Amino acid sequence: MKKITCLHPQWLIPVEPHATVLTQHALVMTDDKISALMPSAQAYQQHADAEHIVLDKHALLPGFINLHAHSAMCLLRGLADDLSLMDWLNHHIWPAEKQHVSDEFVFDGSVQAMAEMIRGGTTTVNDMYFYHQAVARASVHSGMRTVVGCSILEFPTGYANDADDYLQKAIEAYQAFAGQNGVDFRLAPHAPYTVADATFKKIVALSDQHQLGLHCHIHETLDEVAESVKLHGVRPLQRLHNLGLLSSKLIAAHVVHASDEEIVLLQKTGVHIAHNPASNLKLASGFARIHDMQNAGINVGIGTDGSASNNKLDLLGDVRMAALLSKAESGNPTALNAAAALEMATLSGARALGMGDRIGSLVAGKQADIIAIDLSALETQPVYDPISQIIYAAGREQVSHVWVDGRCLMKNRELTTMQIHALEDKARWWQARIATQSN
Ligand SMILES: [Zn+2]
Repeated sequence: MKKITCLHPQWLIPVEPHATVLTQHALVMTDDKISALMPSAQAYQQHADAEHIVLDKHALLPGFINLHAHSAMCLLRGLADDLSLMDWLNHHIWPAEKQHVSDEFVFDGSVQAMAEMIRGGTTTVNDMYFYHQAVARASVHSGMRTVVGCSILEFPTGYANDADDYLQKAIEAYQAFAGQNGVDFRLAPHAPYTVADATFKKIVALSDQHQLGLHCHIHETLDEVAESVKLHGVRPLQRLHNLGLLSSKLIAAHVVHASDEEIVLLQKTGVHIAHNPASNLKLASGFARIHDMQNAGINVGIGTDGSASNNKLDLLGDVRMAALLSKAESGNPTALNAAAALEMATLSGARALGMGDRIGSLVAGKQADIIAIDLSALETQPVYDPISQIIYAAGREQVSHVWVDGRCLMKNRELTTMQIHALEDKARWWQARIATQSN
C-alpha cells in the first residue's frame, strides 16, 4: 500500500516557478516522490486517511545541494588554519591524510559530515575523496543522497599506488554499488596540477564508457594557472579543453580565475561551476566572477568544500556569503538576489549533477527531497518575504525537518538515522588518535 503524507507549511517555496511563494498550500508525498502541490483544504479532503503534518511556522523548500565537498575531512577540521592552499596541502593536509586516512576514517568522517549537513538542510552532497566505498557506505548509513566523486591523482596514498590504481578502484566501487538508491558515482581527477595528460585521457574514455560524470578542482589559485603556463604552455582550462575534458558532464570546482575568453569557453562547452565562497575567502584564493558567469548563461551551483578549509558544512551560511560576494565583486547590488541565490543552492546544483529532472525543486513527479525551516525565531521576525529571510537572516539551526526520497531524516531537529552523541564520541576518539600520532 502506498504511504501518503501531506505537509502543510505556512509558506511553500517550490523554487520552480522561480521566486514563487504559495500560502495555504500543501505538498503531498506518495512514498518517495512528490505527487502534488494543492490547496491545503483540498489535501485534507482528498487525502483524509493520509498523515497530515502541520508546519505552521515553517517554510517548506527543496533540500540544499552541496556541489563540492570532501566530507571525511571534517575529522581534520581545525588541524591547520590560516595558510595558503599549497602550504596547507603540502605541509599539513597531505601528510596528515597519508598518516591517518583509512577506510574507517573515511566512513566515520563522512557519517559525521553527513549528520552535520542534514542538520543544516543539505539533502545531496557531491563528494570527492578516497576510499570510495566507505563514502558510499556512509551515504547508505545516513540516508543522505550522495554522489561519490572518486579522487584520482598521480601520487600514492594509503588508498592507491598510482593513477591506474585509483581508476580501477573507482570502477570497482561504482560497480559494487550499482542500483543502490541514493548513491551515484563520478570520476574526480583531483586537479590539473596533480593529474597527467595520459591519465586525463583515460578518465575521459572511462567516463564515456560507463556514463560517469566528472568533478575536478580547476583554476582555484593564480599559482595553479601560472604553473600550468610554465609547464604546459597553456592555462589549465585550455589544457583540459585540448584533452577533451570540458563538457556538460564536468563539474568544475572553484574556477576563481577566469578570463573573458575562458567564460565564453565554459559556456560553449556546457561546463557546470561549483562555487565555494567560504573556502575561496579562507585560503585567499580570490573572488570568482559568478555574476559574469551567470550572465553568460553558465550554470553555477554552490559548495562548501571540505570542512578543513571552510570550516563549516553550512550551505545556508555559504549561500548568503555567495549572494553578498556577488554584489561586491560585480559592483552591482541587484546581483544574485535572494530567489536566485536559493535557486543556486538547489535547482542549479541538481542540474549540474544531471539530476535536474529528479531533484532540486518541489514539483510533482520529483523525488521528495524536502526541508522545513522554522522562521518563528526572533532573528527571523517579521516575515515580509520568506525567501529573503531564509537567504539573508536564517541560520542552519532553524532547519527543523529533512526528508530524502520521502524518508524523514530529521524531525524537529532530531536525527532519525544517527545518534548524535555517538558521533561526538567518535570525533573525540579520532582527535585523540590523530593528535597523539601527529606529535
Ligand atoms: Zn575541494
